[in-house]
Amino acid sequence: MTSPVWHPFTQHGLGEPIPMVASAAGAVLTTVDGRAVVDAISSWWVTTHGHNHPRIAAAIADQAGRLDQIIFAGWTHQPAEEVAAELVRITPPALTRVFYSDSGSTAVEVALKMALGYWLNRGDPRHRILVLEHSYHGDTIGAMSVGARGVFNRPYAPLLFDVGTIPYPTDVQATLDALEAACRAGAAAFIVEPLVLGAGGMLFYAPETLSEMRAICARHGVLFIADEVMTGWGRTGTLLACEQAGVVPDILCLSKGLTGGAVPLAVTLSTEAIFQAHWSETDRARQFFHSSSYTANPIACAAAAANLAIWREEPVGQRIDTLAERQRAHLAAIAGRAAVRNPRTLGTIAAFELGAGQDYLSDLGPRLQAHFRERDLLVRPLGNTIYVMPPYAITPEELARVWDGIGEAIDRFG
Ligand code: PLP
Repeated sequence: MTSPVWHPFTQHGLGEPIPMVASAAGAVLTTVDGRAVVDAISSWWVTTHGHNHPRIAAAIADQAGRLDQIIFAGWTHQPAEEVAAELVRITPPALTRVFYSDSGSTAVEVALKMALGYWLNRGDPRHRILVLEHSYHGDTIGAMSVGARGVFNRPYAPLLFDVGTIPYPTDVQATLDALEAACRAGAAAFIVEPLVLGAGGMLFYAPETLSEMRAICARHGVLFIADEVMTGWGRTGTLLACEQAGVVPDILCLSKGLTGGAVPLAVTLSTEAIFQAHWSETDRARQFFHSSSYTANPIACAAAAANLAIWREEPVGQRIDTLAERQRAHLAAIAGRAAVRNPRTLGTIAAFELGAGQDYLSDLGPRLQAHFRERDLLVRPLGNTIYVMPPYAITPEELARVWDGIGEAIDRFG
């Protein structure tokens, strides 16, 4: 009997094997049939320190034995308070409030709702959202609306709301001019992935462009939402990508590595002004109307607290720098090959295109995935964009295995 499980972003009709994973440690997954697979993409960009970090696993077990779940509307608990206080401490001082949710997509939904609530409650209702071309912000309706239109969301297009799309900064001045014009015309917020457009193809852009974009929004009073769901937690070399541009957003979305990648949790941080726009001693209609059953689940918050302790107490920055250096060396070793286009690294991310002009649905994607699966590597290219974004705990030998597999992919398909 075939499995009843319907997998995300998977064409079941291709009949590709779906490996069953039994356990994991560091950067290595062990399948039920005993294969040791190197996880080169941090299990969809979430596993930062490595799988089953003992401190995070212990914090989860401990919390599960004490307080599993509690409604968060009007109630609180110690792990949620601790994590919020620590997030406020380590992010820019202007961000003073922390709203919990469960995934990157919902962190984005919350950000958009906060922005619209802010404007409405100030008596200046605005709803136009500005976005950057090729962006990805998640798969819920609002998050898809502010993401690039295309293959990921074509069937749902009638449900998506209209946004103002600013061109990706191939021509930086054109991007800045378009943003300036759109802000001048009036908008509630601009949402952007700082420095790297992830699912859009690991497209990088300069910190100077990010800071210029931020300055334009500030000049016109348009809220600036930084979606650091993918870039946060050290991926680009610093805790937040915004740091590299000296950018302080009005709203900041974090998820993925918030729990070290162990359990789902997300936060949306906001400035005091946005919180205060929802505050009233008398008007209950001004409160922020968003929740889910599991908002700020204590077990997830305990995992996040352990992650934050790891950032405080372990040499995470040093591990990131070492991995970044190794990634640069591996990429440099293949960068001269004819089929390798646009090789690039930022922090722990290395990416390139194999050949020219393939789209996300080309046959190359499944062939590459099969190639990597045969070699016990978890590498999942975006179309012909091959990228490596491993847990920071990956060993030099494991990383070399990944890049050997990539070298063979270039031989075979380049
Ligand atoms: N925002 C960005 C920048 C992302 O890369 C992602 C996921 O890859 C999301 C939002 C959505 O996060 P989630 O898959 O946890 O809903």
